[in-house]
Amino acid sequence: MEAWIARILVLSILVLLCFAVIRTGIWIWGYFTDTKETFQGAKVLELQEREPETKLVILDAGHGGRDQGTSGGEAIEKDINLEVVKKLAELLEDDNIMVGFTREDDTKIGLEERASFANESEADLFVSLHCNYCEEDAGVQGLECYYREDSEEGKAFAEKIVEAIGSEAGITNRGTRTANFRVLTKTQMPAVLIEMGYLSNAEERKKMAEKDYQKILAEKIAEGVRAMLEDSALEE
Ligand SMILES: [Zn+2]
Repeated sequence: MEAWIARILVLSILVLLCFAVIRTGIWIWGYFTDTKETFQGAKVLELQEREPETKLVILDAGHGGRDQGTSGGEAIEKDINLEVVKKLAELLEDDNIMVGFTREDDTKIGLEERASFANESEADLFVSLHCNYCEEDAGVQGLECYYREDSEEGKAFAEKIVEAIGSEAGITNRGTRTANFRVLTKTQMPAVLIEMGYLSNAEERKKMAEKDYQKILAEKIAEGVRAMLEDSALEE
């Protein structure tokens, strides 16, 4: 009887060991394939020469790849962020403002990389787009514009964005806020992170998945970017 129990024990330990080895293997494989998701943004800037007077804005679509950000129903944050970034880029380029992307597709990119890309390309402004989620209260909705606490320029930029959003475009405006998000603390130019709306709110989630609403968001953000560029041009 005891030998029988011992055999089962040995067998169980062997099975567990096998699992551990397989799990470690998967982890190691994941680790190395992860680093192969390389930074895609820089190639955009290499394609074109930048005239000294041309303003450059880095657009940062939050999350990407296996990091999908937050989600609600069918709406996935990483996709909405990228959609609005693309619309925003079009609008800015129409105004002869040069744009650079931290990602142009569904790629995973580190936060430090996003910031150092903006710093290395000596961008004039940095705009990061995200979607929010509130677990405690599904009634919460609206856009929030964040800047780094100790940045006067960041504050001015965030105020321009919020001013452009206004109250008449159908976007709930929750104003400016401070936060030490990594892309804000590591970037050297005026930078904002816009939480465009709450995917935890059914009504707002529905709107944010709509192309027309995404276009309004992009138009209003573009207006804020233009206002900030005009302002900083006056200071020079
Ligand atoms: Zn996010």
